[in-house]
Amino acid sequence: MVSQASRLADVRYDIRGPVLRRARQLEAEGHQILKLNLGNPAPFGMVAPDAVVQQVAASVADSQGYSDARGIAPAREAVAAYYDRIGVEGVTADDVFLGNGVSELIVMSLQALLNPGDEVLVPSPDYPLWTGAVSLCGGRAVHYRCREDLGWNPDTEHVRAQISDRTKAIVIINPNNPTGAVYSRETLIELLDIARRNNLLVLTDEIYDQILYDGAQHHCAAALAPDLPVLTMGGMSKTYRLAGFRSGWLAVSGPKEPIAEYLDGLELLANMRLCPNVPAQHAIPAALDGGIDISGLLRPGGRLYDQRDRGWQLLTEIPGVDCYKPAGALYLFPRLDPEVHKIVDDQKMVIDLLEQQYLLLSHGTGFNLPSADHLRVVFLASVPVLEDAIGRLATFLATYKQ
Ligand code: PLP
Repeated sequence: MVSQASRLADVRYDIRGPVLRRARQLEAEGHQILKLNLGNPAPFGMVAPDAVVQQVAASVADSQGYSDARGIAPAREAVAAYYDRIGVEGVTADDVFLGNGVSELIVMSLQALLNPGDEVLVPSPDYPLWTGAVSLCGGRAVHYRCREDLGWNPDTEHVRAQISDRTKAIVIINPNNPTGAVYSRETLIELLDIARRNNLLVLTDEIYDQILYDGAQHHCAAALAPDLPVLTMGGMSKTYRLAGFRSGWLAVSGPKEPIAEYLDGLELLANMRLCPNVPAQHAIPAALDGGIDISGLLRPGGRLYDQRDRGWQLLTEIPGVDCYKPAGALYLFPRLDPEVHKIVDDQKMVIDLLEQQYLLLSHGTGFNLPSADHLRVVFLASVPVLEDAIGRLATFLATYKQ
């Protein structure tokens, strides 16, 4: 008998748990599953710009050794230059850590920070790796509410009410997964002010910072708070559609002195993993310095824009379903009106949907939403595929009861 480490007892990652296992079983039985459960662009034919892939291919032969533990210098310089361009002061290549995706850096940034019982403010709903990683590192994720009626902006009163003497950090996910919200400047300034007054480290996940619709403007939190230590994360998986390369970054901005010991810890962890995957790091300067423009995908006639629009329209035509129209990212997060659809267990609902319609979506409570009344639909699929999928959802909801 080999048992699981007790530190995993509270780690939840339900969006890839029982639902995905059931999908695999159905596939093994020969069923074809329509999967709109993962923000993974390439399988939907949304592939990286040629120039980026070619740069990586051309660099493979030179990528045989370990790199600097933080990552190769040209990539860290490209990240520093990127933040300089968008108004973040003073980030140099030395302040940048590269990782095997933002995922690795999320875990590292929390491992270096948390003692048992330390609290981290995390949005609800969230990208659930954040909550899971806080638990994995011995901390406690304390969720602050984001309000659908405020375009899913965080409820800053609720944020304030969650602070205790154990709170060490606040996580901001903007643009947000799963809601698609792009936070207003005012909201961000308030969140940063809360961090300032309570001495919280700001961890801001901005992996969707360039995926914006309808003129939405993204404000980089670090640019709004040059006086605060801020760790900003981004990467190649979404904007540059290279999720499989596992390539992301973390940039430290603001005063270093108050977090010097923490940064030593981060460096220790970076050293312990030797370095991130070297070939994939070469994608970073090619993408960030290369003047690659993704605006064609984001305006009318572009794939992401058209898919978002059509998906949103079809979802909101289903009786008892409404949906915030996402201003950023790759997800629709429709609400099932509890007066019409009385759902008690939303994980059971997505499993029932899977079994009846062979459609794989994600349930809202998997994103640490307290109520069982939301679903997440990835809109990376082409319009005809989205029409098929949302048609199946409508058929299912027309008769579904719990
Ligand atoms: N952060 C957010 C908000 C995400 O949505 C995702 C992936 O969906 C990640 C981080 C993980 O990114 P990466 O592929 O760089 O590990």
